[in-house]
Amino acid sequence: MEIGISKEVLMDHFAKYYPSLKNYPEKYQPLFFNPGAVVTDHMAYLCPLCLKNGMILFEDLFADTRSKFSLDHFPPESVGGFLTVVVCKKCNNDAGGQYEHALKELIQTMSLNNRTPGAKVKGKMEIEGLTGRYASSIEVRDDGEFVISFKPNLKAHVPHLDDWLDKSADENKWKADLTIPQADEKKISKSLLKAAYLHCFERWGYEFSYSYTGEMIRNVLLGIDEYPILNPSFWLGNIPNAGRLPLGVCYLRQPTALRCFIVNMEVKDQTTNYRNLASVLIPGPAEKDWDKLLLIKDQLESNSSHTLSMAHVTDNMLFYGITDGYHKSYAELNS
Ligand SMILES: [Zn+2]
Repeated sequence: MEIGISKEVLMDHFAKYYPSLKNYPEKYQPLFFNPGAVVTDHMAYLCPLCLKNGMILFEDLFADTRSKFSLDHFPPESVGGFLTVVVCKKCNNDAGGQYEHALKELIQTMSLNNRTPGAKVKGKMEIEGLTGRYASSIEVRDDGEFVISFKPNLKAHVPHLDDWLDKSADENKWKADLTIPQADEKKISKSLLKAAYLHCFERWGYEFSYSYTGEMIRNVLLGIDEYPILNPSFWLGNIPNAGRLPLGVCYLRQPTALRCFIVNMEVKDQTTNYRNLASVLIPGPAEKDWDKLLLIKDQLESNSSHTLSMAHVTDNMLFYGITDGYHKSYAELNS
């Protein structure tokens, strides 16, 4: 049977996550057992993004929901993400095809704006007196100066532009506009929210996925709902300046009005190594905690400067068999 991941990875996932899935038999067992069938000893794993496609292991038999699976990087590999979790291929492909590319475009532009040597983005050039828009690029030189290339692809067939470059470009009298497309902020927001969701799943397992918050975030990723706050809530600064801040799922303790979870993730431009820390705010598990998220949104909008105090959420809860870590962590945050 071809499932797309190694046996070792699969066994690790069963061992780590099944104890937290086991608490929701009414949710996952109907995916594998006919109604009334005897439920024999097993371990199971569901794609955390859809909770529909999954795998089950009996003593001597392996089965799945006729889906393929693959390792998903969070944040995406294209921005340097290196943590992985098994998801179904459909969810992996949907996110990759629909919104994750925007995060790479954004970090490339941030790298350029930060004048990082080697940073390069593509744009469109409009030249006065010449019809059409031409593919062009802007790049940062080693000395930090910007260089614009009118014809980055030397093989491009653009006779009018070639003609203009031959005749006019040296005259210093021309005028041209370079437009750099801005990455779609809703897509960026979704990409970061998905990565934060997977961080939370990695920390708290299916208790997180089956919570009100888990369900709402999946709805946002499907386009059914909107996240109250556009992500990231904060860019915590380029690394190494921000290098001492805690990564992954953290408590945001101060200011008190913003108290919730904060997932800090490094996002990297692979070409220049420019890195920045993106933060996504995650509320507590229950519906009422989303009201709090709306209050936090107001706070963020009314006050642009915040002094944040953060600390890691205790590691390896699933490893220690704690399957209600999300609720426990939230109680701890508010104690
Ligand atoms: Zn899935």
